[in-house]
Amino acid sequence: MDETVSFIPRYDETQEQAAEYLRLALPLLAKFQLPVNPVNYAIGYHYVAGYNPALHEAVDRLIQGRQPLTPELCVRLYKEHILDAAARRFEKVGDSLQHLVRNTLEELESAEERAAASSDSLKRQADVLDGQPPDRIAEILQTVIDETRSLAQTGQELRSNLQATQREIVQLRAELEMMKEAAFTDALTGLLNRRAFDIKIQQILQNPEPETTFLLLLDLDHFKRINDRHGHLTGDKVLRYTAGIIKRFLPKGQLAARYGGEEMAILLQSCDRMQALHIAEQIRETLAKSKLQRRDNQAPIGQVTLSIGIAGLRPDDTVERFIERADQALYQAKQQGRNRVMDDRALRHPATA
Ligand code: GH3
Ligand code: MG
Ligand code: MG
Repeated sequence: MDETVSFIPRYDETQEQAAEYLRLALPLLAKFQLPVNPVNYAIGYHYVAGYNPALHEAVDRLIQGRQPLTPELCVRLYKEHILDAAARRFEKVGDSLQHLVRNTLEELESAEERAAASSDSLKRQADVLDGQPPDRIAEILQTVIDETRSLAQTGQELRSNLQATQREIVQLRAELEMMKEAAFTDALTGLLNRRAFDIKIQQILQNPEPETTFLLLLDLDHFKRINDRHGHLTGDKVLRYTAGIIKRFLPKGQLAARYGGEEMAILLQSCDRMQALHIAEQIRETLAKSKLQRRDNQAPIGQVTLSIGIAGLRPDDTVERFIERADQALYQAKQQGRNRVMDDRALRHPATA
């Protein structure tokens, strides 16, 4: 597991490794008669994988003290060692930034004081230079040279400290960026999540560009059947596969999000209706032509399709109306037989002001 992106725990192990941890974790949960729910399993998994030394120690203490690992204790350990790690990471980054700013200010202040002192000293030397004998002048000049050297050294130290600070800031910024990405990404599909979508669409409608902004809502057809026939895990893989197709046809800089369970959304800006329709059609067609099969027994999954509703932004649109029209177009696509793209121009009673 990668500890640097600790906002959301990330698990980088291979399938074989993860299966081995599963084999080791299950007997541990069984020993304490713990139901295999996500919280208890996370404790067992982290324990056997040895990711989290503090958690490992806490569980070991219980085992050595012959105390039972109860569901309540698991919840507490989960909160303390898995959930709170995210909050602590945030605090740590905040503290580091504060520390950096404080240090830099102190460095600058001390360099300033040093420069002021040097300048005073140089001024004093200049004042007494008049009418001095040559050997005294040489002495004073030496003092001036020393003072200047020391000033230059302070400057160099300051520069190298600032360079180190800058490197730290770059690193912290990269970490923050990763955290932000994790907070706005849907873990299953890698698309933006619903929260990110809500924020983006609000932002876009603050400076609306009607006629060149389009919303596509894409919903997998009869997805429940796929789950029922092939199981949720296969369903998840189909979702991920569909997201992969969306990413492939999504123009650079445009947004795609997981809008809900098996529903996804694409927001296109600076685009025309022909382009929006073309992108939708490419995604629809590529999925419909894909020959998907289960990984476990190679059984064909059968044709998987999706329906797409498209709305073009209108000058008097609110976010709700804009989404509502895309949703109505999607509904029409479903009504007319699924596996098709519908456009809000074809709606008989579109959501308008
Ligand atoms: P329709 O063509 O009308 O959209 O039919 P549908 O079966 O796709 O629609 P319905 O809303 O009846 O069912 C959606 C199903 O999607 C039910 C739900 O279990 C499944 N689903 C939602 N999110 C996920 C997910 O993350 N993974 C899996 N495997 N299934 C999901
Ligand atoms: Mg559906
Ligand atoms: Mg749906």
